[in-house]
Amino acid sequence: MTIKTNFWETKSLDDMSDEEWELLCDGCGRCCLVKLEDEENEKVYVTNVACKLLDLETCRCSDYLNRIKIVPMCMNLKTDLAEMVDYLPETCAYRLIYKGLPLESWHPLTSSNSDSVIDAGASVSEFAVSEEAIHPDQLELHIIDSFGDDDQ
Ligand code: SF4
Ligand code: SF4
Repeated sequence: MTIKTNFWETKSLDDMSDEEWELLCDGCGRCCLVKLEDEENEKVYVTNVACKLLDLETCRCSDYLNRIKIVPMCMNLKTDLAEMVDYLPETCAYRLIYKGLPLESWHPLTSSNSDSVIDAGASVSEFAVSEEAIHPDQLELHIIDSFGDDDQ
């Protein structure tokens, strides 16, 4: 299938082919970081701990086809984007397009450079550790960011 130039500027997410949908992912890996939610105030804390299936070198899921079965908390953006969009990082291409915003200049589709995500410091590969190396009781020590509650 031929990919139309700048398809992300002319097509809605619903109209994108599977191939176009996958190309939209910049491979930053930020959606694969473990998050902790404070049930009292609904604040969400982002850690530098990555899902056990994230390949920390490539920042790609190591079992993409079976991911939802293996990791029940994995977000299925194709079916649940409207519900999950505010849990995605502000730079996420799906979130940006959903909200009618342009892609980041470092997105490989706009930069035409497969290394631009890393060069821009947007990839988690520089700082993430696998959840397999972290005891669950230690997660709070790995918080790097938060959103929700008073941020909204
Ligand atoms: S945050 Fe968005 S763009 Fe980045 S890896 Fe996740 S789905 Fe892809
Ligand atoms: S299962 Fe794969 S896509 Fe889902 S959070 Fe883990 S690494 Fe990311």
